[in-house]
This record gives sequence, structure tokens and C-alpha cells, in this order.
Amino acid sequence: MSSAFDVIVVGGGVIGNAAAYHLAKAKARVLVLEREAPGGSATRAAAGMLAAQEEAGDDEAFLDFCLKSRDLFKTLVPEVEALAGFGTEWAVTGLWRAAADEAEAASLREKAHRQSERGLPARWLDAAEARAALPSIEAPHGAFLAPEDGLINPVLWSRALAEAARRLGARYAEFTPALSFLRDGRRVTGVRADRSAHAAGHVLLSAGAWTPGLLDGLDLRLPLEPVKGQLMVLSGAPGLLPAPVYAGDGYVVPRRDGRVLVGATAERVGFDTRPTPAAQARLAAWAARWSPALLKLPVVGLQAGLRPASADGKPLLGPAPGWDGVSLACGHHRNGILLSALSGRIAAEGALEGRWQEARGYAPDRFVAAGATA
Ligand SMILES: Cc1cc2nc3c(=O)[nH]c(=O)nc-3n(C[C@H](O)[C@H](O)[C@H](O)COP(=O)(O)OP(=O)(O)OC[C@H]3O[C@@H](n4cnc5c(N)ncnc54)[C@H](O)[C@@H]3O)c2cc1C
Repeated sequence: MSSAFDVIVVGGGVIGNAAAYHLAKAKARVLVLEREAPGGSATRAAAGMLAAQEEAGDDEAFLDFCLKSRDLFKTLVPEVEALAGFGTEWAVTGLWRAAADEAEAASLREKAHRQSERGLPARWLDAAEARAALPSIEAPHGAFLAPEDGLINPVLWSRALAEAARRLGARYAEFTPALSFLRDGRRVTGVRADRSAHAAGHVLLSAGAWTPGLLDGLDLRLPLEPVKGQLMVLSGAPGLLPAPVYAGDGYVVPRRDGRVLVGATAERVGFDTRPTPAAQARLAAWAARWSPALLKLPVVGLQAGLRPASADGKPLLGPAPGWDGVSLACGHHRNGILLSALSGRIAAEGALEGRWQEARGYAPDRFVAAGATA
């Protein structure tokens, strides 16, 4: 046995890094095992929208969860950036949805009304106001605006969390996949990695879409699968858009350096992360429909990642059913960047103190009752 830790975090994507940061801040002895270079897989491909008022849909409890996480960025970002020594491009830009037709306009108007009644800043803008605010977007039916939603650079954010965690004493083992678990009866006592075995008081699994492969070692099956997302990256349009805009089944996101992201596909094709021309054609068609100005910009890349999606699309946060000493922080699907602030804190508190109450609705054992485990 090479060493002992309070918590071993498996997976150094945005969720694992956020948990590691909070664990290190609480003075826990932390080891992060990352199969590749830390940063994450889905995390590296993400657009980085903090789209609480868009993504939660009609699920009020999930909306609360998303809003709570979005609001944590206000204090967490300055704290993490100061420790890491570099910025993350976090900004409260506001976030738009252009209506596709009069029916969607009516439903977005009603959403603005409902959210305002709840005390959230939310606005409906008619066609003339939308055109003035978003001249490069086709929005003849008006648009919804959530002024407090925002944007962060997910690569910088994940890297900053890891760097801040390191500065607080967390250890990172890169290019070191977790292979299996050390066990004592129904208790997990550590992790076997490439060339070593590490004992730990608790093991936190945040290996994104690859978490089910690890759970196989505990004879545990939970419904989590990869959903491939591809984004087209365009260059050279500083100032083209003030903020991310959703429309139809896609979105466009401006980066601070002038790049523009057009996203995203949702494909159930296993673990294949190779970009495809079919995705590029689909994203170009979206641009032609919603923002023809984008079609003149040079394509500089197509990026792809695997969203970790549970059967109900919500996170898995809590103890691994039937086991002691091991818990899950995965399944963040389309919202892992947004939820990293809250899920990271909850996962750290859960791993250290067994406190998971804030994530009550997202306990992994909700799928056990549904007969999903083996
Ligand atoms: C195209 C696209 C756009 C997106 N846009 C947004 C957005 O705008 N806003 C938002 O909030 N979310 C967005 N998401 C979702 C977000 O990216 C994910 O929810 C989030 O990144 C998941 O983070 P994670 O840490 O759980 O997983 P990952 O980032 O996938 O990290 C998991 C890590 O675990 C490591 N790992 C796997 N197996 C092992 C092992 N055995 N041992 C050690 N390490 C291991 C992997 O190498 C990886 O680094 C988007 C996703 C995609 C694909």
C-alpha cells in the first residue's frame, strides 16, 4: 500500500476537480486519479453556458438546484481564480432564446411571466427589441432573456479548480487510470491504479460517462450512458453576439477571444468521440436558419465530447447503493459546467461527512427502487 488519503477522487473533469477543490479547502488529504491529463473529457468539449433558467425546463426542484449553483459562481470564481493565478472568462452575460414561431413566442412569454412571478429576472422582448439587441440573429417572433444566466470558459474553469486544489494540497496523479477497488466486505477501502494501490477513507467516483465501467467492479449497474455532443468552432467575430443564444434545437456561444461556437448534436453512439462531417452539416444548417452571418466565418474546428447522461437526465450524487466508503458524483449530462459549483461542494461534504441532503432528489438509489441495479 503506497499511501493513505481521506478521499480519492476518480476522474479529473470539472466535477472531480470541483470536489477536489472543496475537499482540499476543508483540509482533507485528497488524491485525484485521472486517466489522461486533468481537465476532463466532456468538460473540454463544453460550451460553458451557465444556463439555469433555460436548461431546467418545468422541473421546479431542478430549477432551484441550477439557480443555487449559478449563484455560487459569484463567490467561487474570484476565490478559485485568486488561488489558481489566472482567469476563467466568467461573465454574467445574460442568455437568450429566440422564438421559432408564434406558438413558441406565447410559451416563452408565459415562461418570462412565470419566472418573474417567482422573483427571477426574466424578460420577453418583441421582434423589434430582439432585433436591436441581437442584430445577427433571426428572431422575427421575439426572444426570451434570462439576464442573470452567464458563461464561463470550461477548459479554464476546470483547470483553475484543479490548480487551486493543488495549491491547497490536493495531489494529482495524471495518466493514472483507476482500475479496481480495494474492498473489505461491503466497504470500499481504496483504489488500485496503474502501478500502485492507495488506501482511502472514502472514494468518490466522478469519471463522467466512464463511471459505469468502474461500478462493474462493485457489481452495480446504474442507468448512465454517453451522449455525444459536437460543436462547430468558428473564428474571427469579436462583438458579433453579446451573449449565448438558443434557438430551435441549437445554440450559438461567443468566446471572449472572438471564436464562436455553434452547437450541439446529441448522439447515442457509444464512446466514439470522433468529429463527423454529418454533424458539421447539421450545425451549418442551424446557422443558415438562425444566423446566416455565421456562414461567412472560417471553421477552425469541430469539438466533440461525451455527456454523462442518466436515465432521467439528472445528476447522480450520493452513496453507491449497497456499499460503504464509496459515492458518486456523475451524470451531469448537459449541465455539468453549470452544476460544478454546487455538486462539487455537495460531493465534498458527502464524502467527508456523509451529508448529501442538499442533493436529496439526485441520490443514485432512486434507480435501485426502479430495479436498475444488479
Ligand atoms: C458539446 C457539449 C456541450 C456542452 N455544453 C455545456 C454547457 O454549455 N454548460 C454546461 O453546464 N454543460 C455543458 N455540457 C455538459 C458538460 O460538459 C458535462 O456535464 C461535464 O463536463 C461533465 O463533467 P464530468 O467531470 O462529470 O465528466 P468529464 O469531463 O467527462 O470528466 C470525467 C473524467 O474522468 C476521467 N476518467 C474516466 N475513467 C477514469 C478512470 N478509470 N480513472 C481515472 N480517470 C478516469 C476521464 O479521463 C475524464 O477526464 C456540454 C457537453 C458537451 C459534450
